[in-house]
Amino acid sequence: MKYKAYTSRNFHDIPQISKLTEQQKRSIQIVSQVLPFKTNNYVVDELIDWDHFEDDSMFILNFPQKEMLSSRGFDRLSELMDNGASKQEIAKYVNDIRMQMNPHPAGQLEHNVPTLNGEKIQGIQHKYRETMLFFPSQGQTCHAYCTFCFRWPQFTGMGDIKFAMNQSDRLIEYLRQNPEITDILFTGGDPMIMKADLLRKYIDAILDADLPNIKTIRIGTKSLSFWPYRYLSDPDSTELLDLFRKISDRGIHLAIMAHFNHYKELATDAVAEATGKILSTNAAIRTQSPVLNHINASSDVWAKMWRRQVDMGMIPYYMFMARDTGAQDYFGVNMESALDIYTNAYIQVSGICRTVRGPSMSAGPGKVCINGIAEIKGEKVFVLSFIQGRLADWVGKPFFAKYDPEAYWLDDLVPAFGEKEFFYEKAYAKLLRISKLPGHTLSAEDLQSA
Ligand SMILES: *Cc1c(COP(=O)(O)O)cnc(C)c1O
Ligand code: SF4
Repeated sequence: MKYKAYTSRNFHDIPQISKLTEQQKRSIQIVSQVLPFKTNNYVVDELIDWDHFEDDSMFILNFPQKEMLSSRGFDRLSELMDNGASKQEIAKYVNDIRMQMNPHPAGQLEHNVPTLNGEKIQGIQHKYRETMLFFPSQGQTCHAYCTFCFRWPQFTGMGDIKFAMNQSDRLIEYLRQNPEITDILFTGGDPMIMKADLLRKYIDAILDADLPNIKTIRIGTKSLSFWPYRYLSDPDSTELLDLFRKISDRGIHLAIMAHFNHYKELATDAVAEATGKILSTNAAIRTQSPVLNHINASSDVWAKMWRRQVDMGMIPYYMFMARDTGAQDYFGVNMESALDIYTNAYIQVSGICRTVRGPSMSAGPGKVCINGIAEIKGEKVFVLSFIQGRLADWVGKPFFAKYDPEAYWLDDLVPAFGEKEFFYEKAYAKLLRISKLPGHTLSAEDLQSA
């Protein structure tokens, strides 16, 4: 199948779009001024149920919904557009709305960009000791955009991540200087948007550098969901699979970190076939998704999704909380409900599916897992622990926050038992002050200097 993208410019060409009312089409046009919109022929023809599109999770996953903006923002923007406001006027108001949507959460920009020989290296983030994120400059778009995506500013030209020239050279140099890194995670956007020969250049640079500490190459991708033909009929699909095989043959584990939000994304012949092709290269496929209102806020959806993934040979890996950015008011599920969804899904499935962890918040100090709600010393509390910490030794220690049915994110929580702060907060504040990267052990010297 040949790939065809639809954006706000040409979405009227989507054959099924005639099912929408004029008002619904107008809403898409308005919201897509603020949030990025892109879908494609596979999503439209094989994933979306057009007979029930209004409540269809796959439709909501790709098509901007009116409620993703505040009603005030939507109405005002709609008015400006209807009254023929100038381009600049609209752009200014769009920017105002975006700035209210917390475009840069968790200090991604300030706190995770490492330095090499005293200079910031763009295109790399290194927050947790063992794993370095790599953003190849050519992989910063996707086959379609998720309406909830926390990287939305990057796709709307808000200049989220900057990229360096000669990326491979610096990448290798950084890996040499930081031998504690065992995992490289290619991320984006979607790195699988890259042509095989381009991806090969980066992979070959890593393989040729012969770095004994590198054990795993991970590729974060939504391509199995949004464009499985990447592995089937794209002109370079065979080349791509050969490249995967080459990695495994070199004794490096290749982990495809596949992003699926719903079992519907696992139901087509194309995704089954593509999965088989990837697995036949000896790569593993691990899966992750946030828990999202209007898309998958149901334990049955998750249980069915994990089971189906395991049937197909995938390994469930993470359930995330929706991040505190973009349309979080629309997609966010509170901590208590997310825990309910997770637990009620987890108890339905066999141990083989219970490789999944969560619900987890990717916050500034680390990945915080909501382990449960308990009553301790007469107080109802959330039991939490770090899955990953900016300081490695935060991981695994239980800590407690006051129960709050309205809490959606770590920032909403206060410590339980009348304590002033969480155990990690002093060290975290110091880490931010001295901008020490990444989550290495804080030395006595670091603590004094801060
Ligand atoms: C999640 C994440 C990783 C990978 O963590 P794992 O627990 O090893 O999967 C690495 N870096 C950042 C910034 C992350 O958010
Ligand atoms: S595929 Fe990933 S990066 Fe791309 S829009 Fe969806 S969540 Fe964002």
